[in-house]
Amino acid sequence: MSLIDVENLTLQFKTDEGLITAVDDVSFSLAPGEVMGLVGESGSGKSVTAKSLMKLNPGNAVYSPESRITLHLDSGPVDVMSLKRPRDMEIVRGGSISMIFQEPMASFAPAMTVGSQMVEQLLIHTDLSKKQAKELSIEMLDRVGISDASTRFGQYAFEMSGGMRQRAMIAMALSTKPKLLIADEPTTALDVTIQAQVIDLMKDLVAEFGMGIIFITHDLGVVAQTADKVAVMYLGKMIEQGPVREVIRNPYHPYTKGLIDALPQLDDLEKPLMPIPGDIPSPLERPAGCVFHTRCGKVIGDICRTVVPQWSDTGENHRTACHLCAEG
Ligand code: SF4
Ligand code: MG
Repeated sequence: MSLIDVENLTLQFKTDEGLITAVDDVSFSLAPGEVMGLVGESGSGKSVTAKSLMKLNPGNAVYSPESRITLHLDSGPVDVMSLKRPRDMEIVRGGSISMIFQEPMASFAPAMTVGSQMVEQLLIHTDLSKKQAKELSIEMLDRVGISDASTRFGQYAFEMSGGMRQRAMIAMALSTKPKLLIADEPTTALDVTIQAQVIDLMKDLVAEFGMGIIFITHDLGVVAQTADKVAVMYLGKMIEQGPVREVIRNPYHPYTKGLIDALPQLDDLEKPLMPIPGDIPSPLERPAGCVFHTRCGKVIGDICRTVVPQWSDTGENHRTACHLCAEG
């Protein structure tokens, strides 16, 4: 039983320069209690994909009619694409899906204390009384390792350090016990020690609440520590997905291999890092055929430049969209 099914998600932005394809025929599923790492360089469409799940993209976003997002809640399946009224979307946002961002200040209203904002959110999305909401908020702040939580409850976000704000944001996002947590580069701005603590905390909470997590990052190393499975995106396309150990040990797509070669090796610090040559093309000039062909060292001929590669099975629950795999 899955928690969310995304099928053929395609999204373009209307701009003065024309339509820009940001997400191109993306499909994936996530089960309750599963952590999926969504990986790719900036501009690969990770955040836009995640925001689509909550319909948080700006008004110039146009979804293709084939795009389907189904959220399986206790009350039954919700067809996210068909939710048009803001009120219907509000039921999904914050209640069933929570999102945490790289910059926690974005999540906190500057003129409200952290505590009153947490309470307000709980009053909207749960049946708790104000008193219960306050108790739960303080408990959650404590759970994320904020000492003296009842004092911090009464503070503004700007009175907290960056690491503490990040924890407070996670506490707020988790207090409604969402079914799905979307974490968009949540640890990128943190120092390494706090980063590890936040990752451990998220893992504990997954185990306790059984929620699904989509963890967006450009750092495959963080994914290796956090996720059960991984999906790699490039220029709006999903190009490889599978169990995290399997994909990291046995990547098939030349882009995934490039990302792995660019990781520092703990057992061989002398090994030179091999960044992927070239830059990600502008979405206004998306390459035809395989979107990666302008940077790929393995191009096998015109097929790469003209034909979009389809998925091939490259292991158990592991699939790759590359003509090399289709050729075996
Ligand atoms: Fe490289 Fe061709 Fe595979 Fe694309 S389809 S990744 S260009 S080999
Ligand atoms: Mg992003």
